[in-house]
Amino acid sequence: MRLEGAVVLVTGSSRGIGRAIAVEAARRGARGVVINYVSRRDKALEAARMVEKAGAEALVVRADVSRYEEARSLVEAAVRKWGRLDVVVNNAGILEPKRFEDMEPQDWQRMIEVHFYGALNVAHAALPHMKGRGGVIVNIASVLGLRPEPEASHYAAAKAALIAWTLAVAKELAAHGIRVFAVAPGGVDTDMARAWGDMDWVEEQVPLRRLARPEEVARIVLDAVENPYVTGDVITISGGLL
Ligand code: NAP
Repeated sequence: MRLEGAVVLVTGSSRGIGRAIAVEAARRGARGVVINYVSRRDKALEAARMVEKAGAEALVVRADVSRYEEARSLVEAAVRKWGRLDVVVNNAGILEPKRFEDMEPQDWQRMIEVHFYGALNVAHAALPHMKGRGGVIVNIASVLGLRPEPEASHYAAAKAALIAWTLAVAKELAAHGIRVFAVAPGGVDTDMARAWGDMDWVEEQVPLRRLARPEEVARIVLDAVENPYVTGDVITISGGLL
């Protein structure tokens, strides 16, 4: 899939990794980029201006991807504007580190709803627009989905589910010309990483001794989108953390 002229929808692209993917897609010649947010409209408008400056048209859409109807409206907004949808990046996410014994049921329910149901909701709504003419679905997972750590067991489980789903559905959709893969970053310098508070773990556990820049993750995501042999794969970018 060449990004030149493509229509790209990135969930949770008002900030962080999603914003970097949206801007990099514009730089690589995408025609249209959907900026999705749930609460930070100010940040989404800022991201849209960056996308436009990089040469693409931007469409800002508020949608909580954990709700199927909102996910479907998000996809329909892109198709209404540009008549097609080529790439979906399921990136929207939340993280509030907590020990299991301190969690309430809504903590793990929300984690699964946003990371796992959110990706399935958007992918399912996008399918009719990709079947037959091709498309790429990227799921932003995490090394925590492959090597879980304490204090984010609900997050790790949601990402592990997302990885398992990616591997299975890629096999179903290959026949329709749709590729599905996951990118699993380690620590990335965003608001989410800062939610861990104390950052000593970076020095102690990451062999490269720094977080990834969101732009470094964006490049690996879009290199894989443009590579026609990547499907059913989990690509890690962890600075040695994994
Ligand atoms: P971030 O800076 O906190 O940004 C999160 C984004 O998701 C924001 O755009 C936010 O919108 C959006 N969002 C949250 N809930 C949503 C919902 N229900 N519907 C739609 N959008 C929603 O996070 P990030 O670090 O860039 O993380 C992006 C993805 O990478 C996540 O899936 C995360 O799990 C994964 N990841 C991150 C790291 C890391 O170290 N940062 C490592 C591995 C994987 P608003 O701005 O409107 O709130």
